[in-house]
Amino acid sequence: MRFKTKSIHAGQQPEETSGAVMPPIFQTSTYAQEKPGVNKGYDYARVGNPTRTNLEKMIAGLEEADQCACFASGCAATDAIAKQLRPGDHVIATNDLYGGTYRLFRQVFEPYNIEFSFVDMTNIDTVKETIKDDTQLLWIETPTNPLLNVCDIEALAELASRHEILSVVDNTFASPYLQNPLNLGADAVLHSTTKYLGGHSDVIGGAIASSNETFMEKVRFQVKTTGAVPGPMDCYLVLRGIKTLPIRMKESVENAKKVARFLDDHEKVGTVLYPGLDSHPHKKVAQKQMKDFGAMVTFSLKDDSIEKAHEFMSNTEIFTLAESLGGVESLVSHPASMTHGSIPRETRLQAGLKDSMIRLSVGIEDAEDLVEDLQKALAF
Ligand SMILES: *Cc1c(COP(=O)(O)O)cnc(C)c1O
Repeated sequence: MRFKTKSIHAGQQPEETSGAVMPPIFQTSTYAQEKPGVNKGYDYARVGNPTRTNLEKMIAGLEEADQCACFASGCAATDAIAKQLRPGDHVIATNDLYGGTYRLFRQVFEPYNIEFSFVDMTNIDTVKETIKDDTQLLWIETPTNPLLNVCDIEALAELASRHEILSVVDNTFASPYLQNPLNLGADAVLHSTTKYLGGHSDVIGGAIASSNETFMEKVRFQVKTTGAVPGPMDCYLVLRGIKTLPIRMKESVENAKKVARFLDDHEKVGTVLYPGLDSHPHKKVAQKQMKDFGAMVTFSLKDDSIEKAHEFMSNTEIFTLAESLGGVESLVSHPASMTHGSIPRETRLQAGLKDSMIRLSVGIEDAEDLVEDLQKALAF
């Protein structure tokens, strides 16, 4: 099956008892057993739920994985992987990591004597030099948030595999429509389904997909034992969202290209970060591993100040000021005072995250309206 067909049919069958084309929301906590231990594949809903199974089969299909496990949030999915580490283990992660992942690693797992190195993964030599005997996990995020750096998944996965290190790719920003890390050699893929997979800003969820059976057994153990599972209604919403993933992504990416080009030509705009622009340092890598360049655009103002960024954001009407991304509606956010507010200014500037940097999640409205909205907001 090709991607658009898969996003509707992968792992889906009409429901057995009624023929319902959409899977019912199995709102139940437990399941009747014929005899103790004899059941229809489900015993208790922390461990499994048929609506969740439908979603897991779908995401496994989209990521070309043998298995998938769904979670109550993207962070819960990350947590289930980090909990497989043991004191003394070492992890290498992208340096401009999603803020919630960074907080989880530094504040929850570092105190348990797990060591983290945050490095520039666009430079493979840096990663090579950081590997130690105890390195167990390579945590790749690409494109990154909010600087939209692109790391070479194939090269990193190959390096990890040579050193018997597990490689995990947070594929939230690209979505499986644009990028399939497992096909590039990664061991596992993680998603915040809250974003493009759900696609309508109405649900929080996470997922892990992999064809590594031993790894997935450990993930399932975490599902069963720590119980950060999504409810059936949430699974239904993500599954419903996925059916339009390819057409939403296509529209969003087309809009993002127009927005990036418009900003690139604007006199008040400083730098525009978009992997599809010729000026982007990792355009070639993006072309190699992604189907297209994504729907996130980051830019700075020539007048580089937090105040100017705030003024810009209070002037937009269609772009809504909010955290998150990947929904049908366009959002604007200001990393320096929102998602990355807790990072010291010097560290932030060193990484290239300027005071005025503004991040856009481009939705599927009319491109002309989006450009006009930005044009108006830039008229200060
Ligand atoms: C949002 C996000 C997460 C965390 O997901 P939640 O569903 O919010 O817990 C992880 N990684 C990336 C790249 C994200 O954008």
